[in-house]
Amino acid sequence: MTEQYSFETLISREALAAKVAELGKQISEDYRDKDTVFMGILKGCFVFMADLVRQVKIERLEVCFMAVSSYGSGTRSTGNIVIKRDLEADLTGKHVLIVEDIVDSGHTLTYLKKYLSNRQTASVKVCTILDKPSRRETDLVPDYRGFEIPDAFVVGYGLDYDEQFRELPDLCILHRNGEKA
Ligand code: 5GP
Repeated sequence: MTEQYSFETLISREALAAKVAELGKQISEDYRDKDTVFMGILKGCFVFMADLVRQVKIERLEVCFMAVSSYGSGTRSTGNIVIKRDLEADLTGKHVLIVEDIVDSGHTLTYLKKYLSNRQTASVKVCTILDKPSRRETDLVPDYRGFEIPDAFVVGYGLDYDEQFRELPDLCILHRNGEKA
């Protein structure tokens, strides 16, 4: 049987834009005069990162990316983090803000915070647009968070299902064959 997909809007593009503006304002106040690196975690962060950098005013801001994976092609985290693209920047003395699409179990960010803190950074904090605290398996608490969402598999605004649907402008709950993914 071919899979049938449908999408239920959970957070509209307008609500996402308003929240990113709010986060950008707060982050600008906190990082304004700091040597700052936004560290995007690919691929899911790319839309959020593009929106966020255009909402901040920070004197010295660098943008970097790492790619990690914790999922295969399913919808559940394995807790096994694999770095697929490593750091290129020297983070010595820099204030690093990890920019992430979603925190679920918290394994990915717990691992990355430790990994980046071992690089003589001045600070390492986390900004995520989405948070699913009901699924947490670690004590990770994001420093900046856009929306708390329920335990459902979401796509759009950069987030995928098996590399599809990243381009959807709204954040949607994915339904497969009439059921939640
Ligand atoms: P964690 O390590 O916190 O369990 O997982 C974080 C990663 O899992 C995210 O960066 C994202 O790639 C993936 N993830 C968790 N929940 C969802 C979801 O609802 N939709 C999508 N597309 N990815 C998710």
